[in-house]
Amino acid sequence: MKVNSNDKISLTLFLSVFIFSIIPFALNKLGIDFSSTTIPLPEPRSLLLDDLFYKLSGAFTHTILEWSAFSVAISIAVLGVVHFRVSKEVTVPVICIALFCAGSMDAFHTLAADRLIDSVADNKRLIPFTWAISRTFNALIIISGVSIFLLNPQLSKKAGFNFVITISLIFIVLAYVIIHYCATSQNLPETIFPDAFITRPWDVGPLVLYAFVCIPLIVKFNKIYPSTFSQALLLSMVPEIVVELHMAFGSKALFDNDFNIAHFLKIFAYLLPGMGLLLDYVQTFTRLEKTTHSLVEEKTKIKSIVDNAIDGIVTINSTGYIQSFNPSAERMFGYQEKDIINKNINLLVPKSYHEKHDGYSYFRKYKRTQLKNIIGFNQEVIGLCKDGSTLPLDLGITEVQLGNETFFTAFVRDLSQQKRLENEIKSREQLFSTFVNAAPVMMWMLDSHHKPIMFNETWLDFMGHTLEQELAYEWDSLKIHPEDKEPVMSQYYEAINHKKSFDQEYRLLRHDGVYRWIREVGVPHHENNTYKGFIGICLDVTQRKMDELKLHNYTQELERSNIELEQFAYIASHDLQEPLRMVSSYTQLLERRYKDKLDDDANEFIGYAVDGANRMQTLIQDLLAYSRVGKNKQILKRLELDPLIKNIILGLKLAIEESNVQINLPESFPQIMADQSQIQQLFQNLILNAIKYRAEERQCEININYQKVDKMWQFSIQDNGIGIETKYFERIFVIFKRLHSREKYSGTGIGLAVCKRIVEGHGGELWLESTFGSGSTFYFTIPIDL
Ligand code: ADP
Repeated sequence: MKVNSNDKISLTLFLSVFIFSIIPFALNKLGIDFSSTTIPLPEPRSLLLDDLFYKLSGAFTHTILEWSAFSVAISIAVLGVVHFRVSKEVTVPVICIALFCAGSMDAFHTLAADRLIDSVADNKRLIPFTWAISRTFNALIIISGVSIFLLNPQLSKKAGFNFVITISLIFIVLAYVIIHYCATSQNLPETIFPDAFITRPWDVGPLVLYAFVCIPLIVKFNKIYPSTFSQALLLSMVPEIVVELHMAFGSKALFDNDFNIAHFLKIFAYLLPGMGLLLDYVQTFTRLEKTTHSLVEEKTKIKSIVDNAIDGIVTINSTGYIQSFNPSAERMFGYQEKDIINKNINLLVPKSYHEKHDGYSYFRKYKRTQLKNIIGFNQEVIGLCKDGSTLPLDLGITEVQLGNETFFTAFVRDLSQQKRLENEIKSREQLFSTFVNAAPVMMWMLDSHHKPIMFNETWLDFMGHTLEQELAYEWDSLKIHPEDKEPVMSQYYEAINHKKSFDQEYRLLRHDGVYRWIREVGVPHHENNTYKGFIGICLDVTQRKMDELKLHNYTQELERSNIELEQFAYIASHDLQEPLRMVSSYTQLLERRYKDKLDDDANEFIGYAVDGANRMQTLIQDLLAYSRVGKNKQILKRLELDPLIKNIILGLKLAIEESNVQINLPESFPQIMADQSQIQQLFQNLILNAIKYRAEERQCEININYQKVDKMWQFSIQDNGIGIETKYFERIFVIFKRLHSREKYSGTGIGLAVCKRIVEGHGGELWLESTFGSGSTFYFTIPIDL
């Protein structure tokens, strides 16, 4: 029998039941007779036992059929109780008991018919009457069984075994009362009218009840309490109705064709709910098996979780004895599960903690007071290992009620590593704060709301505050000099907004009321574009500021005195020229006119005077040239260097020829932006020096060249002269500094100083490379686009 799991009965199933129910009728129509043989009894004197059996065959058939139906009803009751034990659901057993009671009524009907129990009425009346009563009872008892749950849907959830028993007793008592009545009643009514259209009118009642009351009620019941059983019960109404049709409209006598068919189909009607119940049972069993299977799976999973958990998991019973101990706990405490099972939990608690940490006493206290002071998570405790060592643990305990037993599951996590890390962090923090406080600079930190969160000792000393006082201050209320406050604050916010560092100097009021110059360098800290805080370091730079101020004043003073000096040099040399020229020309005149008239000494003295005057003149001219370079404004214009250099060489022709000098030039020179007279003087001085400081033992050779280096023209004047020792490289550019005596090389020591001024005035540099005894190269640069 295949029944849908929903509340609809499939058409095929219905048709099958229907066809099965009308098969006997159809066969009957085809000529098969189901009535029991009735042979007329011979004279009593020749009555044979066999004849009696023949005579009783109808009663036997009736008994077999009825008894089969009753047996099925008994099985239904048994199955119903089993069903209740398995599913704890009361609707099915109540209806099963109802069916059983109906079956009992059938049994009584049979027993009475067979005269196995005492009954007073004769069989012709007793059998059809008790049949009709049984059927009516059957229909009514199904109606009552179903209605109980339809009228009170809560009952199916609340009711238990007692309810089933009570209902069963009521049904049984009812059945008994009816049976008793039938058995003791003498005048049972006539129920068979062979000649009427309705041959057994007493069967019309159950027919109507099945068709018009039972079916709608069971349909409704099936909707609310869908099960294979309720569907089968509904299906059983088909044979029930067919049974009653056979009886009400067919059966004309005991054991006739319709009588037997009806009895046979009644078995089928009982069988259907029985089979439904069996199927239900199979389904329930399959479901249970699946549940058990998934429970086993779940258990295996949980076991593997517990076994593989990082946390140690220990279960304890209510007397403090260990019930389970997972591998993590084994690793932590060093005990094997088998060794520690059924041992007191105090084994894992250091002695000094026994009272405090509860253990056994906890459970006693808990039992007494119900105070769950250790139930919960995140408690730090100390655990005792097998080897006697202790370890810090994070403990969580949950209480589990299994039946009447209370268990406690402890989850323990080893905190050693965490503690180690915490200590490390703590010591690093200490180290950090030691460094920070010992730092000779002031340090501070702000949080994302510009609230101070850290100041070092140096800062607190400066402010003369305690940390608490300083932390209470608003950053904005910092005592910055009023003139500096605005720029400092705007720079601070700009640093935050543009994620750049802050570097400012400002005046800050010290605790003694003195403003000190502070240099502050700070960095804003951002995370995912969100401002998180600021760290700053401040240095008291008041002394440096003072020094800078002093230096600035010195520099200004120096510049001023330099200018004065230059002016003095210029004026002095300019104004000295005239009297000097007079001295020089008159001493020369003296020399010319009185050379032969004076003695040798006088002539020699006059010679010295002339020489001195000449030298002084040269010196003054050079000095003038030097001060002019600084004094006169440069007139920059585009210069063609080719003709300029050629003119210089032409001007030096005499000296070049006298000293047999070879000058090598590049094919052409570039154009430069420069002051013509100054550039002319520059080249001239350098070329003249190269000639003057030539080496006597070789021909003087001068190479003038240039190249482009970055944005500069770099010129070089290279000679193969006497060279200069490296230690004098700086010195020769200082005014009046010379490396030789006047007797050996004439000169004033001003030439290179002039050159340096010219080059630097143009924004370039002048330097040299030289090898003493082999020659020197003077380099200078002039910017390409001035
Ligand atoms: P002066 O030539 O009048 O002494 P300068 O300022 O021109 O003064 O030169 C300073 C000194 O540098 C010179 O006295 C000389 O010793 C050295 N000097 C300059 N140019 C050369 C050179 N090309 N070779 C060697 N020594 C030189």
